[in-house]
Amino acid sequence: MIKIKGTLKGAASVEEEPKALVKKRQKKPQKLMQTGECPELEELMGSPPVDEAPPSVIGLIDSVLLEKTTEMHYLAPSGMFKCPRAAVFQYWGANRGRAPTPPRFTRIVDEGSAVHSVLQRYLSDLRFDYWFIPETKNHVVIDDVNISGSCDGVLVRRSDGYRWGIEIKTKSVRSFEEAKASERPESADKKQALVYAVSQGLWWMTIIYWNKNTQELLEFNVQVSPQFYEKFKERVRYLKPFVLDDTHTHLPEFDKGKCSTMFCKFVDECKRRGGNPDIKDPADGDGGWY
Ligand code: SF4
Repeated sequence: MIKIKGTLKGAASVEEEPKALVKKRQKKPQKLMQTGECPELEELMGSPPVDEAPPSVIGLIDSVLLEKTTEMHYLAPSGMFKCPRAAVFQYWGANRGRAPTPPRFTRIVDEGSAVHSVLQRYLSDLRFDYWFIPETKNHVVIDDVNISGSCDGVLVRRSDGYRWGIEIKTKSVRSFEEAKASERPESADKKQALVYAVSQGLWWMTIIYWNKNTQELLEFNVQVSPQFYEKFKERVRYLKPFVLDDTHTHLPEFDKGKCSTMFCKFVDECKRRGGNPDIKDPADGDGGWY
């Protein structure tokens, strides 16, 4: 028998531990094994059958492939409340040319993606009470302006269909501790999450912060309010004349206060069109780089 250091709670000795574990498991029989007594399934089977058959999946696949042949212009929820020039460039599909991406920057982005996958996997493993749908895509058209993005996921409570969105953010120790002390998420994260909520017809989002140094988690629930919905529509109305300008000549004024080159893919385009972004050398550390 493999000896395990320490004892499990409730087990008299190391030798008894495996037995204790088996007993613990037996106390909690798997719900799926008792379908005859499962109230949710009983209720579903007792309700009138749904007559509507699903639409053709092949038809849906064909429509996706056809749509893909036309480039879609859209505002991204992650950028629509940040630099307005970048949001407009993104909508136009402007040239993203820039110097080679510094390797450290790529590692930062890849680390974030890996953490997202880990948390999405944990949530996907929820068994009975909740169902997790990762990477929910949302497309809406407000006032002729397309808004499109991919939320980290939606959780659905199986018993009654209650659902809400999940937005994951990896944070440096400093940002994490600031959010913890203030007991609220960063304003940009909240706005982005709420745009996802609005464009998916959800009232609530949970923003999860992952501390990159300690792997601690924080969670904040944020709710869509009528005031936010008005702010959202106002933002779309402000950006509309620029994004729908087919001549690509009208741009929001360059504003240093809104400029953050670290994640901007349009630095060249911005400079070419009269912008004056601060370009720092990557060797400067965490500042903007190019
Ligand atoms: S360089 Fe700065 S101002 Fe120009 S688009 Fe990017 S973030 Fe906006």
